[in-house]
Amino acid sequence: MKQIVNTYKTDAVRHNGSFITRDDATDHHVTHTLHYGGWVFEWIRFYETEQGPKIFRLKEHIERLFYSAGAVWITMDYSVDEIMQACIQTVEKSGEKNWYIRPIVYHGQWSMSVYPDPEKVSVQTFISVWKRGKYLSNDPIHVKISHVRRIHPSTFDMKAKISWAYANSIQASLMIKKEGYHEWLLLDTEWYIAEGPGENIFFVKGDKVITPALGTILPGITRATQIQLLSEKYGITVVERLVSPDELKDFNQAFFVGTAAEVTPIWSITSEWWEKHTYAYADDSITMKLKHFYDEVVRGKVSEYEGWLW
Ligand code: PMP
Repeated sequence: MKQIVNTYKTDAVRHNGSFITRDDATDHHVTHTLHYGGWVFEWIRFYETEQGPKIFRLKEHIERLFYSAGAVWITMDYSVDEIMQACIQTVEKSGEKNWYIRPIVYHGQWSMSVYPDPEKVSVQTFISVWKRGKYLSNDPIHVKISHVRRIHPSTFDMKAKISWAYANSIQASLMIKKEGYHEWLLLDTEWYIAEGPGENIFFVKGDKVITPALGTILPGITRATQIQLLSEKYGITVVERLVSPDELKDFNQAFFVGTAAEVTPIWSITSEWWEKHTYAYADDSITMKLKHFYDEVVRGKVSEYEGWLW
């Protein structure tokens, strides 16, 4: 059996089954993934709880990792349970309480044809713990609709979290600092609202909550979490449907969600085709209540959802 690897900022890096130091967590330049892409990964968070550091929705993340691997014909060397245990051990080894975990699996040496011939190519599995603070601001953010459209689902399995989709996200993100916004919003090729480069999006209209339907977006684990929390805690059934940018003027609130973004209220959405729309957040708005409730859930403060923590 091959090993699992993990490294970044701490010495808690697993590579194909054993811990290595981050300085040793390197690979050869003749690596299939480096040349052609197609690696699969997850971005998982662990939080400090009264029972020590706990990983939020670890099982769902690792199950998606396996789904993604299947989409690019990577044969996993481990079971879901083994990767989950490796993540837990890596967090323990890191000694940290509140960081990120990055499992990544890819085709390594030595196949250099585009087709990753399973007879010739190795599979490498790394798990590392990363120090990183908040991904987006704690305060509401300013967003702009990108010129870059989200990948059409006929060209790519949007349910998989694969490097190729991030070429599209990177392209959409390149101008962001220059233009002074916090984040972009991507439309799909039919000009409906899709998602951010690394987040799903929700809108509030009166007492209704709406989110773009699956199809052109990554089915985010945080998106599913918010849909469930809105239903179970607030009795709100989220409407999943196509959302046109023409509707932005009718919404009262908008928020991004994601493992890194958590629940991030959006202050304004600007574009070159529609007028700028701004949103406001009273403390008792759905967005702010959900944001605070989610913060409690991930920190193990709500007993009904302790089963999401590993
Ligand atoms: N969409 C994209 C494109 C993403 O990269 C992410 C982050 N993984 C999300 C949505 C949110 O997914 P999750 O809630 O599973 O982190």
